[in-house]
Amino acid sequence: MRAITVKPGAAGSVRLDDRPEPKVPDGCALIEAVALGVCGTDIEIIDGEYGWAPEGEARLILGHESLGRVARAPESSDLKEGDLVVGIVRRPDPVPCVACAGGEWDMCRNGLYTEHGIKQVHGFGAERYPIEPEHAVKVDPGLGILGVLLEPTSVVAKAWDHTLAIGARSRTWKPTRVLVTGAGPVGLLAAMIGRQKGLEVHVLDRVAAGPKPQLVADLGATYHSSGPSVIGELTPDVILECTGADALVMQAIMAAGRDSIVCLAGVSSGGRKVDFDVGGFNRSTVLGNDVVFGSVNANRAHYEAAAEALARADKGWLSRLITRRVPLDRWREAFKREPEDVKVVIDFGAKAA
Ligand code: BGC
Repeated sequence: MRAITVKPGAAGSVRLDDRPEPKVPDGCALIEAVALGVCGTDIEIIDGEYGWAPEGEARLILGHESLGRVARAPESSDLKEGDLVVGIVRRPDPVPCVACAGGEWDMCRNGLYTEHGIKQVHGFGAERYPIEPEHAVKVDPGLGILGVLLEPTSVVAKAWDHTLAIGARSRTWKPTRVLVTGAGPVGLLAAMIGRQKGLEVHVLDRVAAGPKPQLVADLGATYHSSGPSVIGELTPDVILECTGADALVMQAIMAAGRDSIVCLAGVSSGGRKVDFDVGGFNRSTVLGNDVVFGSVNANRAHYEAAAEALARADKGWLSRLITRRVPLDRWREAFKREPEDVKVVIDFGAKAA
């Protein structure tokens, strides 16, 4: 079977490999890949900046945003042939730490977690792969190919869950205005959930053209491309920072208003230094009761919340997020960014319906 593999740490090592059919351990289901979403993390891995191969192997099967069809499932599971499923990316650490033991692998304490297609376990960028039923999440069959958006939605479902949990520290705090920075797939899905919660949503991005402004407008949210000064002007109750871009992260944490919560959900590359007024930051954070926190990954409850959010969303709107579908034969094109890309998906051949 064909699989997209990479040698982590070696830029330009990505290729389409012919690999043996997967061995399906007892208790596992066999999945046929329908589609694979491409995200910034995949590009970083391809560029040799991130990613780890499984122990004892040189190459890693890439891909963590999956959509597959069950080809075969153990009788004891609630999966059946033909079900559409998404694989949960992170696996608990083997110790396990207290968070992983409690099903919160997204909050792993010792860093020994593994991640499909990212850290020490093969990903879902193969024509067929095995999965334990407890690591698969069923997707509403009506979503079809749109089910490939479940993993990025789970990441923002977690960011929202934690933001609101933190907000509950004050009995009187009730958010009304939200700013999402970045109108990539993660930012747009974060904005979508904000609208589903009935909030006033603003989205800030660099580009003024392409599909993003209309996608935001069609959510009933407001699009801004005038630069980061808008952050201070809006004084949002919540900022969901989805870019990881240094300048925006800095503006977001410095311009946060009173009682505001800033969730950093974009991973920066690091290594660039800027002058930072630590005292000024501390002063405004303390005097404003501000919170700045980080959020990564998602546990099963977040995948389930994401599945509900997708099921409630307008399918026409969701389908406009998938701006390019690339067949596996032309897989390389999927990893080359094009100006109007929102979400690029590789079609693996199995049918979604
Ligand atoms: C994935 C997360 C993962 C994170 C860090 C993101 O692209 O969506 O599931 O935890 O990268 O590796």
